Amino acid sequence: MPELLFGTAGIPHSAGERTTLKGIERIAELGLGCMELEFVRGVRVNEKSAIEIKQLAREKGVRLSAHASYFINFNARETEKITASRKRLLHAVRIASLCGARSVVFHAAFYMGDSPQKTYDAVKNQTEEIINQAEFVAGEERLIIRPETTGKISQFGTIEELVNLSSEVNGLAPCVDFAHCHARTNGKTNSYEDFCDILSCIENKLGKAALDDMHIHIAGIAYGDKGEIKHLNLKESDLNYPALLRALKDFRVGGLVICESPNLEDDALLLQETYRYFG
Ligand SMILES: [Zn+2]
Repeated sequence: MPELLFGTAGIPHSAGERTTLKGIERIAELGLGCMELEFVRGVRVNEKSAIEIKQLAREKGVRLSAHASYFINFNARETEKITASRKRLLHAVRIASLCGARSVVFHAAFYMGDSPQKTYDAVKNQTEEIINQAEFVAGEERLIIRPETTGKISQFGTIEELVNLSSEVNGLAPCVDFAHCHARTNGKTNSYEDFCDILSCIENKLGKAALDDMHIHIAGIAYGDKGEIKHLNLKESDLNYPALLRALKDFRVGGLVICESPNLEDDALLLQETYRYFG
């Protein structure tokens, strides 16, 4: 059965010093398996520290991923904003690749009043170019660029959109944020069957290999008519995470689960424990 690892979105709160290196050490101490580098407000890692990060992560057996800038919109009206979005994603990919990260996650676009199809076409064009231009570290397992399922209905990124996009663009795979799927359907996506439907959709369109190597976000979440409002700790939210974890187990999903709850490692450990309880 492929391994499913659990970890935090960024440096655990209990790391002491707020550095990526201390974060990696703390993940290992806690018995977690992975950490997402938060490049969401810019990449604050240079090439030299990227190499140190990669070495330490290897040494400690911690898998890494990265979350690219929040300021990406491949359906922006202004060409400058598209160009800036491309630069931000490409820079995140280059540094993440040097860090030995396996995936880079990003929020692809807003609909901006356009039809979902028009937005899809814009995102598809841009991501195809990104894949062609991206610099990956030679001789290593190639990093996967992953648009994320988004939490607000104004944002491009339903599971169907991302699965279709991934089936059409080589080198792309979805990051499935189950809290976002739950929030953007105003709480409807929340049962074992709903989570199984998402996993079946991935398996049918992208093949079993996509389930062997998933990248997942989970957090408690508050939502309304327009979707996501804010992240919460799991126990303060109505996300049915035990049902979700059971579905992941039953589908033999492998890869990384990144916890984005405000309490980070507490919920990451809760998810890991609950998952292990099933089997
Ligand atoms: Zn995200």
